[in-house]
Amino acid sequence: MQEWQTNSGLGGVLTVSGHLGYHPTWDCERCGEPWPCPALRDIPRHQLRPAALIPVMAFLLRGAIRDLRGRAEGPEPPEIVRRFLWFLPLTEVEARAIARRLR
Ligand SMILES: [Zn+2]
Repeated sequence: MQEWQTNSGLGGVLTVSGHLGYHPTWDCERCGEPWPCPALRDIPRHQLRPAALIPVMAFLLRGAIRDLRGRAEGPEPPEIVRRFLWFLPLTEVEARAIARRLR
């Protein structure tokens, strides 16, 4: 079980939960909340394997920023960064710096 989760990275915990979000809306397929949705954010950090999660979320972030920025009621890029990297204790300044690099 342990090994399976490690190997599958994002797939492990996130896929099993069924709470997945995709381009272009980034709303959760299962609960309709902005993804990563509250159900995912409730998963204890020790089950998330940040080392596997960070590269995947960084990749998805780039697409999400492209899709979501500029929408009238949409989130700003730093908010999107904090949403996708919810498991990291990012400051506002750090989130802005990451958003700039992913543009
Ligand atoms: Zn969900």
